[in-house]
Amino acid sequence: MKTIEDLDVAGKRVFVRADLNVPLDGTTITDDGRIRAVAPTIAKLVARGARVVVASHLGRPKGAPDPTFSLAPAAVRLGEILGKNVAFATDTVGESAESTVAALGDGEVALLENLRFNAGETSKDDAERKAFAEQLAALADLYVGDGFGAVHRKHASVYDLPGLLPHAAGDLIATEVGVLKKLTEEVARPYVVVLGGAKVSDKLGVIDNLLKKADRILIGGGMAYTFLKAKGHEVGISLLQEDQIPVVLDYLKRAEATGVEFVLPVDVLVSAEFPDLKTKAPANPSLVAADAIPADQEGLDIGPKTRELYAAKLADAGTVFWNGPMGVFEHPDYANGTKAVAQALLDSDAFTVVGGGDSAAAVRILGFDENAFGHISTGGGASLEYLEGKTLPGLAALEG
Ligand code: ADP
Ligand code: MG
Repeated sequence: MKTIEDLDVAGKRVFVRADLNVPLDGTTITDDGRIRAVAPTIAKLVARGARVVVASHLGRPKGAPDPTFSLAPAAVRLGEILGKNVAFATDTVGESAESTVAALGDGEVALLENLRFNAGETSKDDAERKAFAEQLAALADLYVGDGFGAVHRKHASVYDLPGLLPHAAGDLIATEVGVLKKLTEEVARPYVVVLGGAKVSDKLGVIDNLLKKADRILIGGGMAYTFLKAKGHEVGISLLQEDQIPVVLDYLKRAEATGVEFVLPVDVLVSAEFPDLKTKAPANPSLVAADAIPADQEGLDIGPKTRELYAAKLADAGTVFWNGPMGVFEHPDYANGTKAVAQALLDSDAFTVVGGGDSAAAVRILGFDENAFGHISTGGGASLEYLEGKTLPGLAALEG
């Protein structure tokens, strides 16, 4: 894979595919980790006199402009971080983009509006995607792939566009791949994996590969209830992926056969209602044993016994990979499980990798020092698919 040092960027229009998909509360960025992570690449290109055209997706708009998913706040924040003005185009490939890019001088930066405001970006139709990639290619001379959080997507700006322009990987992608590669090679043991979060079906696949690699797998978050249900327990109205129960049972069986320790919550915080994340009004959850969830309630965090158990399972770790919050950490009543796991990572001497947009944001929002972790990945799905051993379209395109 070429790096940006291999490109002659002075005076050239350089398209940087970044991942500025940051969490927003209205137009306020609640965690700017992803913007800070790609800023060094942009700053380097600026210092070398490139005309930098940054592009990203934000959220999941439906292929048409939608002001709730505008990247305008990210342009402001990126400008603050770089210490220079970042011009903002109000479209991606239209008049505003064209004139904004044409107005760039050497060492100047522009951000285009959300790539996903265009149906071609995520289209499953190769021709439609390619046509959009060609429109993007017209805006630049060179391509730098640095949106690690999106490299598992076969999208126009990630997969098709690098094929149309001389290209290289940015520093963020190089770092991310370097760390994840380490996790697939020789790791310091015990290798403990903690999985949680809400995207259960996206995350079950990684267990398949991790069963061959990890020594212990701890399950929390919304994932846990599919496992508890598979073990025959009532899970009430908790997040559940009923169709995945056979898969989960197979994992439990294989773990037992191969000696991988599989650890499930022993107690959980439950409530009849999902908490109000806006007002953060007290949720008054009840604490129940993991095999005693009332039929009309849902599990929203791991309980204190589980926190202690997971901390103990992490204490002697040599390597930890953690993806997915242990509960609905956005509400203070359900943040303690996630806090306990973050603290346990810091208390261990392990090489710790945190992956996942929400997991990374949780660590920072809950007040932990991000520099105290071995590595905080900007990519959730991307890091999981890498560890699954899959070919990532955005990385494959940069190799070519
Ligand atoms: P990541 O972005 O780190 O990969 P996910 O996107 O899979 O993580 O999941 C993060 C979300 O999971 C958070 O918004 C959190 O509120 C939610 N979550 C965690 N535990 C539960 C639970 N028990 N029930 C519902 N949602 C949960
Ligand atoms: Mg997420």
